[in-house]
Amino acid sequence: MFPRWVWDFVRVVGGEVVAEVRGWRFDVVGARFFARPSISDVTSPCSVKRDVWLRRVARVRVDGGVFALGRAVHEVFLYPFRHLQDSLWDLVRGFDRIVNSLDPSVKRCKDSLHKLFRKSLGLALYSSEEGVPISVEPMIPAAPIGLSDYVKPDLLVGFIPVDIALAPSWDRGFERKELALAGYALAVEAWTGHPVDYGVAVYVNLGEGPLLSWRVIRVDDSLRRAFLETRDRVAMMLEHPDEPPQPPEQCPQTCPYIEVCRR
Ligand code: SF4
Repeated sequence: MFPRWVWDFVRVVGGEVVAEVRGWRFDVVGARFFARPSISDVTSPCSVKRDVWLRRVARVRVDGGVFALGRAVHEVFLYPFRHLQDSLWDLVRGFDRIVNSLDPSVKRCKDSLHKLFRKSLGLALYSSEEGVPISVEPMIPAAPIGLSDYVKPDLLVGFIPVDIALAPSWDRGFERKELALAGYALAVEAWTGHPVDYGVAVYVNLGEGPLLSWRVIRVDDSLRRAFLETRDRVAMMLEHPDEPPQPPEQCPQTCPYIEVCRR
């Protein structure tokens, strides 16, 4: 599943992460508020979490654009992992079905999505051949760590959570995925009692340059605490739902709510 260097990295520095904030320490990681945000609430792109307020409190619905493209990337990447028992012919037909159902704004990326499909198919076949245990979007109970009932990492490779995302065009995009992986690691720890010291982010670049880039994220105490602080900030906002102010900095142009906030 992973490139060789990722396995080597985890093996060489494995056991080096010393963390006190483990998912099974319910006194430390348990909910502090009645409201239980989802992992996408905690890791939403808006620095003041106005997007969460718009979605969860004001019930504003937006779709298309970056949402549609992100969904397409997930569907295409995960399809071979989900349907590995199918024949090659059926897998290719499955890809065609996905492309035919795409939003017209996303269909223009068909060639890049086809490259992504071929890459993902290769990874899925290789992992199966090597007997790597992989679960696709497993439902992991998350209430013990103060989140919604379940979280679903894109993949779980052994105990390592994997998050697939469009390559971010701004720095905070990377931070968001680090927080998401910390949340998944805590949920897996709470569920299994097995320590999870690493997560892997896979960034998909549909433009120029390498199609996939991989980042191994060390889930250390500072990242775990940052996740819990953000979780509590979002839960508090959901319990006291006054409209959040606009953030002081410029909003990213890729924010799906940019038209709603008119910035
Ligand atoms: S447009 Fe700006 S204020 Fe509105 S949700 Fe997005 S980042 Fe937040």
